[in-house]
Amino acid sequence: MKYKRVLLKLSGESLMGKKSFGIDNQRLNDYAQQIKDIYDVGVEVAIVIGGGNIFRGVQAEEGGMDRTHGDYMGMLATMINSMALQAALESAGIDSRLQSAIEMKEIAEPFVRRRAVRHLEKGRVVIFGAGTGNPYFTTDSAACLRAIEINADVILKGTRVDGIYTADPEKDPSAKKFDSITFDDVYKNGLKVMDMTAFTLCKENDLPIIVFDMDTSGNLKKVLLGETVGTVVSNEKVKEMIEELKMIYDEFKGSNDKSLKHLESELLKIRAGKASPSMLSGVMVDYYGSPTPLQQVANVNTMDARTLTVQPWEKSMLEEIMKAILHANLGFTPQDNGEVLIINIPPLTEERRRDLVKKAKAEGEHAKVGIRNHRKDAMDMVKSLKDEGLSEDMQKDAEDEIQNITNGFTKKVDELIDTKEKDIMTI
Ligand code: UDP
Repeated sequence: MKYKRVLLKLSGESLMGKKSFGIDNQRLNDYAQQIKDIYDVGVEVAIVIGGGNIFRGVQAEEGGMDRTHGDYMGMLATMINSMALQAALESAGIDSRLQSAIEMKEIAEPFVRRRAVRHLEKGRVVIFGAGTGNPYFTTDSAACLRAIEINADVILKGTRVDGIYTADPEKDPSAKKFDSITFDDVYKNGLKVMDMTAFTLCKENDLPIIVFDMDTSGNLKKVLLGETVGTVVSNEKVKEMIEELKMIYDEFKGSNDKSLKHLESELLKIRAGKASPSMLSGVMVDYYGSPTPLQQVANVNTMDARTLTVQPWEKSMLEEIMKAILHANLGFTPQDNGEVLIINIPPLTEERRRDLVKKAKAEGEHAKVGIRNHRKDAMDMVKSLKDEGLSEDMQKDAEDEIQNITNGFTKKVDELIDTKEKDIMTI
């Protein structure tokens, strides 16, 4: 079974069956049987039932009665239905308890949350009667409230229709049924699932709602088995999309990090005036027949701002190293004193400096092109999520986020280039 603890919401009206008032016994027994089918396989079931088949608070106002007074009458109506359902459950062999939000000791326990949970754990079906106990609420609100209080996994709203449609299917033949929908999309499309108080309570507490046709025998069990019966309202899709987007952002940042790293290593190769061992980082030495990086055969150090020293680990390598440095075409002519090579770094001419700045800037542009390409890839990935249910709002937010990340990396490129330029131009 997909859910362990459920809250089943039944409307009072549905109890009427084909009648125009009161309770239809056949319908009542069918409901009891459907509940037994899931009870027998160990699902913990709590139930809230409405009172619309007997009395609704709004009717009171129509008759000139006080609304509050009428609402209490409506809550009492739910108690009549709850008692009828309890009797049907008991005769189907289901152990049950009725708890009322308005005290009436002779017929029901008062509502006590901990006790309700204990009943469920002991395998008793719990019916919550008298709504929330407060006027100006509905039994949908009572259902959401109780479901949250007892930590139910889902609210199952049994109705006469088989789910939520894009429009009223009785009026619009092109109306399509949703298999699943997010809370936000229900709001945005003005769809009616429950009254707003009830619906918002579920959304804010991340409690999924399944709207399904309870008047078709066997449907309740199908819902529990996870079959596509009715419409699921949940934040699942939103959560899934948030995860997907996070992955896109991470990948985007990762690619940009690589571009920055590459830029940094390219900038190191552009030598500024000051002597630094990295100036020789590209030099390859013929070490007994195999080309080997200079740093693996010698210590390269700065003696002062204008001088580098190269101390081979094997003295016999001096000549090979000398050749390699000359061959690298760096404009350096090392002096061999028999122990170490000494390289005087010639000061750069103004023109040379300007050339190097140009080169650094070109590297910066190259990095920016990389970032722009990664940005396009990320944007394309976001767009492709639309088919998987990414909402327009989320898409817009994701595009903004990608732009922010882009701006951050572009700024870092600019900073690197500025620093390099200052470095090159400082004599
Ligand atoms: N009611 C109320 N507070 C509650 C729940 C219900 O005042 O917490 C009253 C309200 O007047 C409502 C009536 O009880 O019209 C019957 O409940 P509802 O309309 O929700 O029943 P349903 O439409 O599900 O049959």
